[in-house]
Amino acid sequence: MKQRMRGDPGPVQIVTVNKEDHSFDLDTEALSRILLRPEVRDKDVVVVSVAGAFRKGKSFLLDFMLRYMYRKPGEDWLGQENEPLTGFSWRGGSEPETTGIQLWSEVFIVPKEDGSEVAVLLMDTQGAFDSQSTVKDCATIFALSTMTSSVQVSTMHLYYLATNLFTEYGRLAMDEIFLKPFQSLMFLVRDWSFPYEYKYGFKGGSDFLDKRLQVKPTQHEELQTVREHIHSCFTSISCFLLPHPGLKVATSPSFTGQLCDVAPEFKEQLHELIPNLLKTDELAVKEINGNKVTCRGLLEFFKAYIKIYQG
Ligand code: GDP
Ligand code: MG
Repeated sequence: MKQRMRGDPGPVQIVTVNKEDHSFDLDTEALSRILLRPEVRDKDVVVVSVAGAFRKGKSFLLDFMLRYMYRKPGEDWLGQENEPLTGFSWRGGSEPETTGIQLWSEVFIVPKEDGSEVAVLLMDTQGAFDSQSTVKDCATIFALSTMTSSVQVSTMHLYYLATNLFTEYGRLAMDEIFLKPFQSLMFLVRDWSFPYEYKYGFKGGSDFLDKRLQVKPTQHEELQTVREHIHSCFTSISCFLLPHPGLKVATSPSFTGQLCDVAPEFKEQLHELIPNLLKTDELAVKEINGNKVTCRGLLEFFKAYIKIYQG
């Protein structure tokens, strides 16, 4: 595996769940090092988070997002056919399966059309559903990710996510807030295998989601409330149907992310998904109670949220 040099950008664990006593640990110093750099601290922040359980392809997806963020003009950002995929999947040092939140150490400064600049953060959020006690830890971690991000990509099942939102946000007495508290939520459906029913991509996803989120009088009451709740929480909700990446990606132990081993329809959909998700005019700045948040402000929110969960 490629060695990472000191000072090179990489993933940084900022929130860790202690498996023994289920306490949460925020690495304030590490987070400050990322957010308080003079060139970013006063810029409005966009936090793109990918959340889900282990082995759901989150790092894989984030690594392609990194390629897009580091793209050079005139080159296909998706990369070379034989290039190994690196980034969040780099696993030196830290334990690979830590329940918690990781941030990419480099904050991307992106110019907006109006001449202003925003600071873009990429966040990897994961939980392990290996026992009853850790299910609650996961719920907390995912709630934390929703609260601190402005663009949330969820690989979780819709119903799970909604129930999760429901129980966790109750603790923040959200019914007192009239504005929609969160910005953008995208459900990412992996290994979609019914393109003849709903096409791959945003359009098929949107049709699929409409169908799923339709509130019908015949439905179970709890399910209805969950759906209404989800709509009242997010300014924008979308869905993307992603095809299977191919057997080499899914099963080969020697696979290191080379594009030549990735199914063509998957690559095609990545070309659709990632630039749309990360294109300048789509990037939603993090807002809390209707106010835009800077990197410096985000640090304070992290500290405050962690306190809530520490009891
Ligand atoms: P993470 O734990 O969620 O970060 O998952 P990883 O990104 O480390 O990927 C876990 C495994 O799933 C790897 O072997 C990937 O090659 C594979 N993988 C990545 N994306 C997909 C996908 O969309 N579908 C399937 N079936 N496998 C995937
Ligand atoms: Mg991962």
